[in-house]
Amino acid sequence: MDALPLIPVARPTLGEEEAAAARRVILSGWVVQGPEVAAFEEEFAARVGAPAAAACSRGTAALHLALLALGVGPGDEVITVSHSFIATANAVRYVGATPVFVDVELHTGNLNPELLSAALSPRTRAILAVHQLGMPCDLPRILAFAREHGLPVIEDAACALGSEVAVDGGGFQPVGRPHGLLATFSFHPRKVITTGDGGMVTGPPELIGRIRRLRTHAMSLSTAERHRAAGVVFEEYPEVGLNYRLTDIQAAVGREQLKRLPEMLAARRRLAARYLEALKGHPWLLLPREPAYGRSNWQSFWIILAPECPVSQRQVMEGLKARGVDSRRGVMCAHREGAYRDLPLRFPLPVSEYLQDHAIILPLFPELQAAEQARVLEALKEVLAG
Ligand SMILES: *Cc1c(COP(=O)(O)O)cnc(C)c1O
Repeated sequence: MDALPLIPVARPTLGEEEAAAARRVILSGWVVQGPEVAAFEEEFAARVGAPAAAACSRGTAALHLALLALGVGPGDEVITVSHSFIATANAVRYVGATPVFVDVELHTGNLNPELLSAALSPRTRAILAVHQLGMPCDLPRILAFAREHGLPVIEDAACALGSEVAVDGGGFQPVGRPHGLLATFSFHPRKVITTGDGGMVTGPPELIGRIRRLRTHAMSLSTAERHRAAGVVFEEYPEVGLNYRLTDIQAAVGREQLKRLPEMLAARRRLAARYLEALKGHPWLLLPREPAYGRSNWQSFWIILAPECPVSQRQVMEGLKARGVDSRRGVMCAHREGAYRDLPLRFPLPVSEYLQDHAIILPLFPELQAAEQARVLEALKEVLAG
């Protein structure tokens, strides 16, 4: 009998529309940070309800630019989580600041706001809060704490385009509005929309203007401004900036992806609801839980093996693979990596470590078919039955 093809954990939704958009830009003669990037920024800002947005080369660059724009630097501390893709902590180190890791909550995988006050020090300059795997973090409490202590909040929304939060007693609003001061997004193929690589920062116009300069060597005039100028103008470089430009080819693809977003979100939510329904009450599983203040975009769906589960994370993942279903372990912890061995931990991070060792990410992407999802569920139940 032929084995069925492996069901992947994630797959981007890309089609003829994206291919045609890339072709159109390639043949237009303007292929980097031009009219398509400007249009993508405008459409993205409108989609999340942000006053302004700056595109850049990837989500990691978006984080780096956000920290630079807020003036975070050497000697400063940034309260954040270890339980995230390593880019979150790395961005803090790029600006010479120190990440102060606090633990997360079990059912959301996000920063536990109870732990903020212990992490506060005279050096604290910002809070970098992650909406992990698209699940909204507790912004109502994080923002209240930040306001009380006069700290800016940066939202690492790399995975959270289309997620929603309710703060200050209001209704659900898209992540990126922004609720914190700045929010950063990624367009890597594992995220909700993709431009290959790519990123975006949303926030107030002054900060976004500064980010636009920093992303292109802090040049005083943009290429578009020079292009439009009636006479001859010379640009200046008043400080050291970076080259984090997005190409127009990527931006054109991103604009097509934004058009697909409502449909992709609906599919993700439908699939997540099916997983939750099928797995609820399983004696060995803990499930992610949307908090009262937020709605996930379900960029990923994960299960958590309960302490009494007799099957290990590795055994479950191997069992799934043997049955044609790919999976990934839970989100990594930066503090357990060699890159962070020199950074003394201020607090134990038991929930972060538990999630890395016991969570398993299951296949979920808009084009996952009902029959494929049924195969995933069947395989999981078999593996858990031992
Ligand atoms: C993917 C991701 C990033 C980095 O985004 P890139 O576009 O890959 O640079 C940062 N933070 C989180 C939480 C992510 O998931």
